[in-house]
Amino acid sequence: MTAPTEALAPTHRIPAHLSHNFISGEWVPARSGATFPDRNPARPAEIIAEVADSDIDDALAAVEAARLAGPEWAGVGSIQRGKILFRAADIMDRRKEELARVITTEQGKKLSEARSEVERATEILRFIAGEGRRLSGSTLPADEPRSMALTWHRPLGVVALITPWNFPLAIPVWKAAPALLSGCTAVIKPSPLAPLSTAVMVEILAEAGVAPGALNLLQGDREPGEALTSHPDVRGISFTGSLPVGQKIQSAAAHRLARTQLELGGKNAVIVLADADLDAAARAIVHGAFGQAGQRCSATSRVVVEASVREELVSRIVERVSGMVVGDPFADDTDLGPVVDSSRLAACVDAVEGAVAIGARVRTGGHAVTETADGSGGYFMAPTVLTGVPADSEIATEEVFGPVLSVIDASGFDEAMEISNSVRYGMSGTIFTENRAHIFDALERFEVGMLHVNRPGVGAWPHLPHMGAKLSQYGAPECSAETWEFYTELRSACISF
Ligand code: NAD
Repeated sequence: MTAPTEALAPTHRIPAHLSHNFISGEWVPARSGATFPDRNPARPAEIIAEVADSDIDDALAAVEAARLAGPEWAGVGSIQRGKILFRAADIMDRRKEELARVITTEQGKKLSEARSEVERATEILRFIAGEGRRLSGSTLPADEPRSMALTWHRPLGVVALITPWNFPLAIPVWKAAPALLSGCTAVIKPSPLAPLSTAVMVEILAEAGVAPGALNLLQGDREPGEALTSHPDVRGISFTGSLPVGQKIQSAAAHRLARTQLELGGKNAVIVLADADLDAAARAIVHGAFGQAGQRCSATSRVVVEASVREELVSRIVERVSGMVVGDPFADDTDLGPVVDSSRLAACVDAVEGAVAIGARVRTGGHAVTETADGSGGYFMAPTVLTGVPADSEIATEEVFGPVLSVIDASGFDEAMEISNSVRYGMSGTIFTENRAHIFDALERFEVGMLHVNRPGVGAWPHLPHMGAKLSQYGAPECSAETWEFYTELRSACISF
């Protein structure tokens, strides 16, 4: 077993092997020797590690390792594979603090949020591990005498798992665990903005008993990503990230009929009607909009409120937000850490300036925070609330992916629903109301994959499908038993005796 990574703050020490690729059970540098820097977004001058910058040759080697490992891993059996995942969950529990520190150091979310991410990842591992005893087909009536018919699942084959930086442990776990449980072999490629959290996950799975070659780690960005998605031996691509990259992957996969599972962006609305509990709504909105610095696919980015209660609601939100402490994500009293990099910070500032130019009003925040107590120079954005935002403006229809909340007026339930549904995304949606008819109307009419009623619009449970509607999602949902639609092929047999 490898010694756990040392406590990472303030001096961040990562064992050297974790910055390599992991191919056929070996930690190896990129074949070209190239590396890229993994920076701490709270202190950008600090390079946490120089990480393997893979190219096409590394991608080919990783896919070949997965292909060669396929038959033996498929033969292990799902119950045994489940036992390996249970062991991995136990190791992850043991390494929780170390993992949380790696996440906070390279991604920037608060340490408490990183600990929650590790807990969630561990729960997902255990849920998927238990599926090893339930991954069943069915027996069916036969058309002929002395005959029977049955169905069962076979692993899809080699799959590519391409992940974003915002949940650098939980998302890799909810792809790698079902891939391995189903008997697929995989190449996982995390985001270059948070590569090491995934490397620790791969190390844990290997220590738990995943066979060499069954799970390979490929670091880098677009070049190895494209090599994976266009490789003829890759039968399926599970991708979480932005819509434009998802669309490219779909095109690359289409001509060879490779299967895809695409989890994409969101522009999530919370509807607040005049009869709602405004304190509860304000609490939930602040949690959904500013938790993880607004960098969740399900983050609350629009509040669509009945105009008669707008000011009462906004004053409650602003009261909570204006006192938030922005700064070091390791500090106990910090409410909001940095966004992930300089381009994300610039995108947040640009979005606010664009909104103000068309008449929106900044009620709190609205700017980058350059003066933090520790003088770190990190990528900090003040938590921002805007009112008077036109429903069809860019900030109200496209992802900002940062701590910026737009408040939009509506005349009542029907208009609120129309505004909420007017965007191309449909990840999560929330409604606050005491009116039961409107709650059931929302079930019918809210065009979202995940609906929340009188509770925060974020958060997911391992046994519930994680999915969006419209352009937020394509293919089978993740988590839940529905994910087998992606990782397995259903087979049938007719037997006469
Ligand atoms: P991104 O699309 O820029 O990158 C995602 C991954 O794709 C990274 O690993 C990247 O290296 C890789 N990649 C980039 N170009 C590629 C290409 N041409 N071919 C193959 N791979 C390529 O997204 P991001 O900035 O890392 O993440 C933020 C986005 O992810 C947001 O849009 C957010 O909404 C979305 N997201 C969605 C969910 C969900 O469940 N729907 C969850 C988290 C994040």
